[in-house]
Amino acid sequence: MPIRSLIKLGGLLVALSWFGPQFVFAFEPPTALERVNALGSLETAPAVLQRLLTPDADFAPLRTPGYGDWLASHPERGQTFGGYCTVGFNRPNSSRNVIYLLPLGEFPPDTSPPLEDLRAYAEAYFQLSVKILTAVPIDEKKFTPRINDYTQKRQLLSMGILAYLKTQLPSDAYCLLGVTMDDLYPAPAWNYVFGQASLSGRVGIYSFARYDPAFFGKERPDDYRQIILQRSCKVLAHETTHMFGLPHCIYFECLANGSNNLDEADICPHHLCPVCLRKLHFNVQFNPVTRYEELAKFYRTHNWDDEALWTDRQLAKAK
Ligand SMILES: [Zn+2]
Ligand SMILES: [Zn+2]
Repeated sequence: MPIRSLIKLGGLLVALSWFGPQFVFAFEPPTALERVNALGSLETAPAVLQRLLTPDADFAPLRTPGYGDWLASHPERGQTFGGYCTVGFNRPNSSRNVIYLLPLGEFPPDTSPPLEDLRAYAEAYFQLSVKILTAVPIDEKKFTPRINDYTQKRQLLSMGILAYLKTQLPSDAYCLLGVTMDDLYPAPAWNYVFGQASLSGRVGIYSFARYDPAFFGKERPDDYRQIILQRSCKVLAHETTHMFGLPHCIYFECLANGSNNLDEADICPHHLCPVCLRKLHFNVQFNPVTRYEELAKFYRTHNWDDEALWTDRQLAKAK
């Protein structure tokens, strides 16, 4: 079972996946009071934000993790909104406020998420300008390829890509995110990695290779393009929340939840819970109604009916 982890290594925040033993410990989901305390007092927040951040039936409390789930094997304590406000994180400003996407290698239309859709989703999600840079071919001399023993497919060394991305950072970039359909590995001893980022370097690299059922030799269902797009949008948004300094969420079912595998990631909702939305809002200072309007439009365009209806309910609360 592939295991995905987020750990700190010498200033790098890295999302890792590997084969190995799991440590099992009893994780107790926070109580209702602990969730309220994590959110903090909303008294001084604008009225619209108060309505949008009030925990209600649209925000399910975190379920008790089952065997193999992320929190069953990773001792995370969570971070309150108050805790977020007291730690340092990258913040967009007037001169650095664009999220750049840099495609590395080919994005074949039948197996890849459309880049323009990823761009539009990230722009709505983070309420910052998102631009796609000209695709760069895979340079095998730079990125140290190997053939994975399990899949017999090519993988690229993510550390090498991060070093390259740091040399490509545009002057107005909040961050530069490499995206690729090639599989990645972070070090020779590791099996694979979904993505890796350097927060201090403001760069990240994310692979969508494993979101196609055919990667594992499975038959593609009729809606596989939809599945690839949903998974890719979700991982792009999840990993980008880390760029904004958000750690994993342990309070609600939330996009910022850690996940150990594709099944758990698929259960994760696309939305942020009140605690995490409050953090992102504190950082970016967007208009939350505009954000939900743009997300609802995206969801409707792509027939993501459940997400569109959920977002419509938030917009109704804001009125
Ligand atoms: Zn993560
Ligand atoms: Zn959350």
